[in-house]
Amino acid sequence: MVLKRELYQALEDVVGPENISEAPVILGSYAQRGRPRFEAVTLPKTTEEVQAIVRLCNRFGVQFKASSSGWGAYGDAGGPGVVKLDLRRMNRILEINEKNMYVVVEPYVIYAQLQAELMKRGLNCNITGAGSNCSALPLAAHQGIGHLSVSGSYGERNQLALEWVTPEGEIVRAGSLGSIGQWWCGDGPGPSLRGIIRGNVMPLGGLGVYTKAAQKIYHWPGPATFPIEGVSPHYRPNQIPPGFMIHYISFPSPEKLSKAAQKVGEAEIGFILMGFNPGMISANIATNNNEDLAYIKQFTDSVQGPGFLIIMAGNSPRDTEYKEKALQQIIDEYGGEPLEAVEEPKNAGGFMWRFIRVTSSIREVARASGIFAGEVGGTDVFPLMHQYIMRSAPVKQRYIDEGKLLADGTDPFVQSVEHGHAGHAELLIRFNKQDPGSLKVAGEIAQFANKTAIEGHFGVPGHAWGDAAHDQYGPHTLNYHKWLRKIKKTFDPNAASESTNYITADN
Ligand SMILES: Cc1cc2nc3c(=O)[nH]c(=O)nc-3n(C[C@H](O)[C@H](O)[C@H](O)COP(=O)(O)OP(=O)(O)OC[C@H]3O[C@@H](n4cnc5c(N)ncnc54)[C@H](O)[C@@H]3O)c2cc1C
Repeated sequence: MVLKRELYQALEDVVGPENISEAPVILGSYAQRGRPRFEAVTLPKTTEEVQAIVRLCNRFGVQFKASSSGWGAYGDAGGPGVVKLDLRRMNRILEINEKNMYVVVEPYVIYAQLQAELMKRGLNCNITGAGSNCSALPLAAHQGIGHLSVSGSYGERNQLALEWVTPEGEIVRAGSLGSIGQWWCGDGPGPSLRGIIRGNVMPLGGLGVYTKAAQKIYHWPGPATFPIEGVSPHYRPNQIPPGFMIHYISFPSPEKLSKAAQKVGEAEIGFILMGFNPGMISANIATNNNEDLAYIKQFTDSVQGPGFLIIMAGNSPRDTEYKEKALQQIIDEYGGEPLEAVEEPKNAGGFMWRFIRVTSSIREVARASGIFAGEVGGTDVFPLMHQYIMRSAPVKQRYIDEGKLLADGTDPFVQSVEHGHAGHAELLIRFNKQDPGSLKVAGEIAQFANKTAIEGHFGVPGHAWGDAAHDQYGPHTLNYHKWLRKIKKTFDPNAASESTNYITADN
């Protein structure tokens, strides 16, 4: 389907001829292999331009979809007849409020940029585990869970006031922004729109366009500039700021790991806490595939069972001492053992830098020796998420035994959020690239894990998106899918906001 010339001209009048294209070479660069292409790509610069594009799409009966930095797989066209809003020209940090500890950004500010500005001011932000190359708009990250979530929470909880172009093209300023023109509160007065716009996850392009948003920020106890020199992954040794500590601790059993992680939460000593497996650690320092495989073997042979990566950051010498002692007590109580390679002076500073700046996610996930995919995961209370993964995990073993998947030594992959207030877990699988059937088992594992989540009442995983998933989970979860459809229909009567990855109104 080619856009009507009248619509294309009207879109061009909004953004200018240099900010719109329907050239196949451009459209191809926005499409994943085998997926539908957009009909045109637009690059709006202001909220008013976004509004005008959305209104035109409604008027001409075509759909639209926005994306921020475009890292995720969910910003695609979904089907024919869709206009892309690539928000890369909306790239300003609008406010860093040091006193009230929030920031306001446009969609194309990325976390690496925001965090660097914050560190200069003694502040820090949560970063999606997808990497600091992603948008710092809390409404772009799917959940916004990441390495720093143990101390810096995640998307839903950090979200404050926001500016939203609704699917029909109305500009809504939600929270304190709408009532008093300030950004510090996401809710009220009266019923909050925040719960309409997002819950644990955001609508993945299916409910209009977010043009500005505020989020909570946190204290940074480190230096204004992290003391790192050299070339990744071989940074100069011993570059660790005072009061910072890094360890990878493995435990004799998943149960002991889980209890130890809970104690870390109770003691509030974690700055970063991630249930990485040895393979994810190795990906941070390997420079080629052979090295990666050698490190995986070395690290896997050196651990006694599943583990976590912890970074602690002392606010004072006494605080540092307390954190070290508390961790040692937890290690002693649960039989933890450090993976020494992580603490070696030649590695520790580089590891610390990469995890705090969240620079290696793509290497942790996608690698030549196999991909770690978070097949099914959820966010709820920490022990529940631990149990969920342990109940789902055995299905992997059969495929590992058959050689379709590679052993990963992962389960449970758990993240602690807000010092244990919540937890996130994923069932990671490592595809065997040598076996053409490997990718096929992903679907079977997902089905098993969905069944486990429903039968065990483990909640709705973050990876439940699209009609089929909501229809599967909704009937077991207070029929939330019916409410979600009502929201979609009410705010998007023309179905203009393309919602393959959210929910459609008419199913
Ligand atoms: C390797 C890898 C690891 C990942 N790990 C994590 C993880 O640890 N934690 C986690 O939460 N997620 C994770 N994800 C998913 C991740 O959150 C998304 O990929 C990420 O948010 C993409 O960031 P982005 O800023 O580039 O968003 P985009 O790719 O630009 O957009 C993501 C979605 O949001 C929509 N969207 C974006 N901006 C707007 C806007 N301004 N208005 C309306 N809709 C918009 C898009 O249509 C799309 O559906 C991972 C993804 C990958 C590829």
